[in-house]
Amino acid sequence: MKNRNSLTLAAVAAVGLALAGCAASTPTTVPKTSTGSASTTPDKAPSLNTAETSVPKGVGLNVSNIDKSVQPCDNFFLYASGNWLKNNPVPASEIRWGSFNELADKNNAIMRSILDEAAANRNAAKGTNAQKVGDYYASAMDTASIEAAGLKYLKPELDRIAAIKTADNLQTNIARQLQLQTGSFFSTYVGQDDKISTQYAVNLNQGGLSLPDRDYYLKDDARSKNIRAAYMTYLTNTFKMLGESEATAAKSASTVMRIETRLAKASRSRVDLRNPQLNYNKMTMAEVQKRYPNLAPQHILTDLKLKGVKEVIVGQPDFFKELNTMLKAEPMADLKTYMRWHTATSFTSALPKAFGDEAFRFSQVLTGAKKQQPRWKRMLRATDNALGEAFGQLYVDKAFKPEAKQKAMEMVNNIKAAFAEHIQQNDWMSAATKAEAMKKLNAFTVKIGYPDQWKDYSALSISRDSYLQNVINSRIWEMQDNLNKFGKPIDRKEWGMTPPTVNAYYNPPMNEIVFPAGIMQPPFFDPNADDAVNYGGMGAVIGHEITHGFDDQGRQYDAEGNLRDWWTKEDAEKFDQRADIVGKQFDAFTPLDSVHVNGKLTMGENLADLGGLSIAYTALQKQLQKQYGNGPRPMYDGLTPEQRFFLAYAQIWRTNARPEYLRQQVQTDPHSPAQFRTNGPLQNMPQFYEAFGCKEDAQMVRAKNLRAKIW
Ligand SMILES: [Zn+2]
Repeated sequence: MKNRNSLTLAAVAAVGLALAGCAASTPTTVPKTSTGSASTTPDKAPSLNTAETSVPKGVGLNVSNIDKSVQPCDNFFLYASGNWLKNNPVPASEIRWGSFNELADKNNAIMRSILDEAAANRNAAKGTNAQKVGDYYASAMDTASIEAAGLKYLKPELDRIAAIKTADNLQTNIARQLQLQTGSFFSTYVGQDDKISTQYAVNLNQGGLSLPDRDYYLKDDARSKNIRAAYMTYLTNTFKMLGESEATAAKSASTVMRIETRLAKASRSRVDLRNPQLNYNKMTMAEVQKRYPNLAPQHILTDLKLKGVKEVIVGQPDFFKELNTMLKAEPMADLKTYMRWHTATSFTSALPKAFGDEAFRFSQVLTGAKKQQPRWKRMLRATDNALGEAFGQLYVDKAFKPEAKQKAMEMVNNIKAAFAEHIQQNDWMSAATKAEAMKKLNAFTVKIGYPDQWKDYSALSISRDSYLQNVINSRIWEMQDNLNKFGKPIDRKEWGMTPPTVNAYYNPPMNEIVFPAGIMQPPFFDPNADDAVNYGGMGAVIGHEITHGFDDQGRQYDAEGNLRDWWTKEDAEKFDQRADIVGKQFDAFTPLDSVHVNGKLTMGENLADLGGLSIAYTALQKQLQKQYGNGPRPMYDGLTPEQRFFLAYAQIWRTNARPEYLRQQVQTDPHSPAQFRTNGPLQNMPQFYEAFGCKEDAQMVRAKNLRAKIW
């Protein structure tokens, strides 16, 4: 995702290291191993109804996942998916396992056949997408050539760093690091200007860390220390593989740790990074040149071929102040060591196996993974990352039915209509704010399936000679493709996710909701299922993305996608009070004994889940009313439509996770762990209590004065 503001349905990066900024962030297409059986269907599906033989069977909901030994009003997450959770432990090569993974696995199988076929074809015309995709994947899978090449293709980059002598050389190499997306020092990209959404702006943001968050460098608990010790080993061993002696490698490791810790101390917390106003600091080029002379932003932008830049948006001025100081205060040799590290580790998968093994050993400490994923899965993801829109069309042809798009659009319209009702009918907003909210809702752009216009890869050169060279070429191409936007009209056809991705997003400056083909399948969406199931799954996803436009972050953007306050003071205060209730609820959740969810970090996602579910519920009721009027509504598997709606929602969040991964998720991911995404919103919904006949003292029922309701 190029836009740091995009709000996704689920985590986009399931990897341990935060290296290489956007380039390293991968979709949640984490496949399963053959041992993790996806759908173990018992011979006889248990039914809620005693008269099993005469009960009509439903489609789209797996009732055999239900654990009837748990009461739905005690713990709905365990009730809805308990049997599945027991039968589907996390596979050795995974860090979590759930319906997202199962579906991603299905998509992977399709992508793998496309890539295998492309790789087997050596006759594709040079320069075509088919040639590029085939050669990229073939070179990625050619481990013999990767071993034989050793550091050959990395050496020119390491030599550039070694040759740095002056501040001027350093700045030129910082620009090179940005092009290579190694994750050194900071990040830059061209994106919509948050306050003038019809224009592109150059953004500079904090970065430069290898561990997943600044807190990993700063906290002194046993686990943080343990992770830092493992990181030191990883650093030392990598420097040794780059040719340093044991003693020199140990010294280099300390250098990297010291520089990154320095950057970590100057970095903002993830909670503060969620504040769009705080992270919008527009400065003239003259001003940034004056403030950060050692970084010399103008020099770097010129090297990046960015012409005519008069202003830049500096995300975190204090971070850049410290970076500027550091670039002069740190010995040049140490800065070079730091850049050598980032360059080498950002290309781990394209280097000999020993490099990847070191990286994996370290990531095990972070995430608890027992085995590395097979190479084809990792390289499939890398190919999707580098060339996803080059073979996305082939995926779409095989996996996406145009009817799905039509049905989804109909659902989006119904859910938007339900949201409109909720806005109009809510009892805490003034008419003025309601009018602005309606304007924003009506201005939403909806994208479903795949782009109307595919990316043009003609300037990217890919061959079978070297995988590392291919990775370098695609990263430089991707960066340039992004920077080329500067000064041009906004590209409103662009997509931030590739078609097979099992995820969705809301992009505030574009005011758009986007649903890739990958998620338009069971258990999220099944054209053969009844509305109750589809509204509980895909409907809640659509509602989630729409609500992002009105969560604590999204509500700060207006109908045109500008960061502009359209709320009356009183209404904003009322919103905050209501959101605070949700924040406190999630602060109290503990996935592991002493580990609490961070209500502030996860606020936007929790509000989107709660709002999305309540809107999807209303939309379903309107559908049922339309279909059946006040007459009886059909039961499937002995379940009412309302019960099926909530079960479908809970079942899309069925997830097992390793404790190490859960700790990392709570620290770094704005999405709450799955069990709380299920029970958290439901505990606030009288519609849920009613569907399952929950008594007032049940665990799933919150006292009236502690319930949250915003939309
Ligand atoms: Zn979200």
